[in-house]
Amino acid sequence: MADFAVLYERLQEERERLATKLAQLRNANRPSSDKREGNPSGKKDEEASQVLEIERRIGMEKNLEDSLSEVEHALEKYRAGTYGSCDSCGQPIEPARLEALPRAGLCLKCKSSQSPNARGK
Ligand SMILES: [Zn+2]
Repeated sequence: MADFAVLYERLQEERERLATKLAQLRNANRPSSDKREGNPSGKKDEEASQVLEIERRIGMEKNLEDSLSEVEHALEKYRAGTYGSCDSCGQPIEPARLEALPRAGLCLKCKSSQSPNARGK
């Protein structure tokens, strides 16, 4: 059986970790006006790879935001006393699933029926 107190600790740690990473990424994503302008050699390859790097970071930022909001949601559920219940059907989420992913908000059944290819209600 899942130990919710331990999972709560893990969620709080994860929130810290995600928030820190997100702050770092946002710093890095800011326009570099206040950074050193670096080599005036203007290497095209370098510029292209910087664009890719920025796109990669923006993608990472989006993922982190999603994860963070899931963690926040799980913490809210914990405080509301509904942690461990599926957001969709209200049934208990599989303990193994919570152990693997403490921020999980849906049971496996609802999660799999939520896939974009699932048929409508
Ligand atoms: Zn469910």
